[in-house]
Amino acid sequence: MNIPKTRFAPSPTGLLHFGNIRTALFNALLAAKQGGVFLLRVEDTDAERSRDEYVVALMRDLRWLGLDWQEGGDAGGAAGPYRQSQRGSVYERFRALLEERGRIYPCFCTPLELEMSRKTQASAGLPPRYSGKCAHLTPREVEAKRRELPHSLRFRMPKAEVIEFEDMVRGSQRFPADEIGDFIIRRSDGSYAFFYVNALDDALMGVTHVMRGEDHLANTPRQIALLQALQLPTPRYGHISLIVDQAGAPLSKRSGSLSVGELREMGYFSLAILNYLGRLGHRYESSAFLDFAGLVAGFSVERLGRAPARYDRAQLDFWQAQAVLGADQPTLTRWMAEEVREWVPAERLPEFAAAVRANVLFPRDARLWAEAVFGDGLPLSAEARAVLEATPPDFFRQALAVLEEPLEFKEFTRRFGAAAGVKGKALFQPLRAALTGQLHGPEMPPLFALMGWERIRRRLAAHVLNTAID
Ligand code: GLU
Repeated sequence: MNIPKTRFAPSPTGLLHFGNIRTALFNALLAAKQGGVFLLRVEDTDAERSRDEYVVALMRDLRWLGLDWQEGGDAGGAAGPYRQSQRGSVYERFRALLEERGRIYPCFCTPLELEMSRKTQASAGLPPRYSGKCAHLTPREVEAKRRELPHSLRFRMPKAEVIEFEDMVRGSQRFPADEIGDFIIRRSDGSYAFFYVNALDDALMGVTHVMRGEDHLANTPRQIALLQALQLPTPRYGHISLIVDQAGAPLSKRSGSLSVGELREMGYFSLAILNYLGRLGHRYESSAFLDFAGLVAGFSVERLGRAPARYDRAQLDFWQAQAVLGADQPTLTRWMAEEVREWVPAERLPEFAAAVRANVLFPRDARLWAEAVFGDGLPLSAEARAVLEATPPDFFRQALAVLEEPLEFKEFTRRFGAAAGVKGKALFQPLRAALTGQLHGPEMPPLFALMGWERIRRRLAAHVLNTAID
């Protein structure tokens, strides 16, 4: 029986960004949707650029995102090891098999020769493709060259065949094999190339579905030809559209891509990120904020788009706002605790968090409100200043008279409104401006309760004299 199995196969040469988080997400969702397995394989064949600290970081980041894997990584499994740097003997074994079957040959071409051949092809308007120079050397020629020259190993693409496959996202694909040159599976330094190790590992690890970036589409016919030559099963492939920036260029750090660590430090909720990325190039029927089970249930490869997906920070923040609104009380409190500790007494924290949740996207926003409520100095906005300047000092004198005793906000405004003969905006705007320094923000009743009678009196009193508050 073939258990559906997807995988995420990052190269640990950097931190996870939006692009690879989305690839991981779609694979995790596809596996969960089919009741299958999500596997993590570390593609660290590039010894120079791969770093252990990135392996640690990517596992931590995937877990934080809630994208847990059931096989590979540090979860183990029967098809390990799951780090390519530890799979040398496997690659050797199948290399020997390809050799036995006459499907690979040594290539002695130098980098300079290859470069010149590419240039000639380019000037004739042809796609770069290996000329086949070393494909037909006699065993004797090979022996002679081997003694003197380093060599790579090339896979013999089957000639006069068409490699066809049904892409889960892009539909039927056809690649005439003779348009694809013989490609390198092992470099002259003995290291194995991506095409080979990646395809071989997928097959040996029982991966049934590969979702990856569109930039890999042209690799797929090569990888299928390789697996066919080894009589190994080929997974189904789906090539998802790339994420582009507002100008249509691939999203980069410079155009706003963020790493998981940066997102986490800013205070993004992982589910906000997943709700956003799950809708970037994929359409959910539901427009509601979904938990992981909901993201799984509504996911479908049929709803993946082929057009490039445009990154939009405002959309990400929209989902962040939903996450903040929907967070349970302990989560919300924990989320902002550190940032507001300086201002908010611990026993008032749950009340404070509830009061500001609709007005904050990040803990640092909560900090501003914490300062506004409990701090001494209020940043006065220009519009609030204008309102205060237009309000006669008598307004505040009367307010203070009503507040001779502590009152709740509703009761206070009812009595004050009646006494001063003001209502609506004329009543609420100057009060909000005097008490918070802003014209917009969280609901006044809970803020009022948090500020406390004495602080409120002090702030109102400052305006009786028409001086700056506090
Ligand atoms: N290590 C490759 C990458 O990060 C994996 C590509 C694939 O998913 O097949 O691009």
